[in-house]
Amino acid sequence: MKKIAILGSTGSIGTQTLDVARANGDLEVLGLSAGSNVEKLEKQVREFNPRLVAVWDERAAADLAVRIADTDTRVVSGMEGLLELARMPETEILVTAIVGMIGIRPTMEAIRAGKDIALANKETLVTAGHLIMPMAEKYGVQILPVDSEHSAIFQAIHGERKDEIHKLLITASGGPFRGKKREELTKVTLADTLKHPNWVMGQKITVDSATLVNKGLEVMEARWLFGLDLDHIEVVVQPKSIIHSMVEFKDGAVMAQLGTPDMRLPIQYALYYPHRRYLDGERLDFSKLKQITFEEPDMDTFLGLPMAMEASRKGGSMPTVFNAANELAVRKFLQEKIGFLDIYEIIGQSMGRHTVIDKPGLEEILAVEEETYQWIESRW
Ligand code: NAD
Ligand code: MG
Repeated sequence: MKKIAILGSTGSIGTQTLDVARANGDLEVLGLSAGSNVEKLEKQVREFNPRLVAVWDERAAADLAVRIADTDTRVVSGMEGLLELARMPETEILVTAIVGMIGIRPTMEAIRAGKDIALANKETLVTAGHLIMPMAEKYGVQILPVDSEHSAIFQAIHGERKDEIHKLLITASGGPFRGKKREELTKVTLADTLKHPNWVMGQKITVDSATLVNKGLEVMEARWLFGLDLDHIEVVVQPKSIIHSMVEFKDGAVMAQLGTPDMRLPIQYALYYPHRRYLDGERLDFSKLKQITFEEPDMDTFLGLPMAMEASRKGGSMPTVFNAANELAVRKFLQEKIGFLDIYEIIGQSMGRHTVIDKPGLEEILAVEEETYQWIESRW
């Protein structure tokens, strides 16, 4: 039995991780956690019987403790609770399925405790990759990508030498507004934005997919995971999300991973790496598929990608500003307080006023995050 804990078990990746555990029967789920969804957590506790549950919200934690008083599961809360979950002595892998850079501290805590990380939580790597990757090396833990693009690359380079990779080709669907121009984006609504053409995901990443901020975050995530610079990472639009990403090697050979859009595959690959298990999912049918098409990303309209590249080139604390500004802007967009294009405005202005701190430590990253939030709150 492989022993795992999940940071963010009630979300899209979290519940699909539990689907994988249920289907395989040999993953022991020792820890669960969530922001505040007590009802879902109670069901998960009753099914998986974990030792520990961490709930961010204190009241929700107290509510859950009453609901599951008849079980052996212990409930903890707040950041201390998430940290306790991350370092649980018995677990081997922490699945980071939490959304946002709030995942930084628990991820670092888990690495320090020697846990392998099945990493979905890209915001953590984007803002603190320069701390996390060397830490993983120091503690001898694996960072196993769950994001479909990074898993595709991870699969494509299996058995290859890293120094023989020439370029990473990260595929993008283009999101629900592909083909639209800036003028048309002034009128799009929250409901339009939440209609992703291929994937059903959490709300934040769905908005990020529409702005192409998600692709920008993924480019930065790939930099840290695979150690290539921006000149060797290219984004290719492939609207149907059949090719999950590709790697070009020095001799010009291109390796790709294809499949139907199903996050259970990269989750399962990360949990059983380097082995493959049967997965009860829809298979590609090439007689129906007929063609796979490609486009270049529209960087003049979807500013999430070029702004992320700029943040990544500037480096230091700039990716934190990019990410924090986006997190708050998306929260405001989801509350229908700002329009779609305001997301770019908030990110652009936040980056414009920031003076880069080189190689920021954890406290500096968290301070830059807070400062960015305060500045945005005083203006929007
Ligand atoms: P989601 O919104 O569906 O779920 C987020 C989870 O995090 C929930 O369980 C929520 O309770 C928990 N959470 C939020 N704030 C918390 C807090 N303060 N304390 C404790 N728990 C908290 O999000 P998702 O779509 O599952 O995405 C999770 C991460 O995976 C994101 O970083 C996303 O970019 C990445 N990712 C998701 C997908 C996907 O298909 N959904 C694909 C690739 C990468
Ligand atoms: Mg992805």
